[in-house]
Amino acid sequence: MPHDAASSPSPILSVSQLHKRYRETVAVDGVTFSVDTHEVLGLLGPNGAGKTTTINMILGVLEPTSGTIVIDGCDLGQRRRQALSRTNFAAVYAPLPGNLTVAQNLRVFGMLYSVPALGERIEAVLTEFDLLRFRNSKCGLLSSGEQTRVALAKAMLNQPRLLLLDEPTASLDPAVAREIRSAIREFAARSQVGVLWTSHNMIEVSEVCHRVLFLSHGRILLEGDPRALPGEHNHETLEDLFVTVAREPLTIRATEEG
Ligand code: ADP
Repeated sequence: MPHDAASSPSPILSVSQLHKRYRETVAVDGVTFSVDTHEVLGLLGPNGAGKTTTINMILGVLEPTSGTIVIDGCDLGQRRRQALSRTNFAAVYAPLPGNLTVAQNLRVFGMLYSVPALGERIEAVLTEFDLLRFRNSKCGLLSSGEQTRVALAKAMLNQPRLLLLDEPTASLDPAVAREIRSAIREFAARSQVGVLWTSHNMIEVSEVCHRVLFLSHGRILLEGDPRALPGEHNHETLEDLFVTVAREPLTIRATEEG
């Protein structure tokens, strides 16, 4: 599943030596990685590994203790508005207001993002995510699959270069989850976008992500092709490898260093 990184000499996202400390807890401990155009990068790790903290720093919600984040050539610390105007995200824990219709939600968020020619852009995302017939439906009354499509449509409104997806298919039935995965893969293939994806579903990650990072205790322990990584570390599946990394991170680190 190649992605055409050659079309973009510089990555869409560059994270360098990122640290976040909360009093005595080091949540993110020197993380460095990048995401290329057309690439879907999976961010994996057990609960408490530092995934949400990393994503929130990239979204500009949390201030890093140190380190840099560059989005599409804009340093988030120095050119915050430009960097964030190129970013968007969707997450199950951030549903859209249920008492607004699909069209109203898209209009409100489009205005927040200062999307030019907003009416046309709304029609385009409604068409892209097969939502035209739901335009006047209240979001709270839609099925979870339909709500996920609206959340993705909202995330695409400003034509982001960097898309962060936190568990985008959680709570969906398998058939709908598959549809959503292929919609995102197609979007990444045809748009000048890089995607950072978190999921606990290893089968999904193997299917969707070109590359994965395993975080544990705020550090990147492993990085690579999700289809090749298990074999390289003598595990049958990505899930087996994940369980080992979650339980015995020091074993993996010793193997890597040895
Ligand atoms: P993940 O998303 O991988 O589950 P988090 O980024 O939420 O991990 O958390 C990483 C670490 O930082 C955990 O030890 C967590 O308890 C801690 N942490 C997260 N947010 C805060 C906070 N606001 N204050 C103190 N500690 C926090």
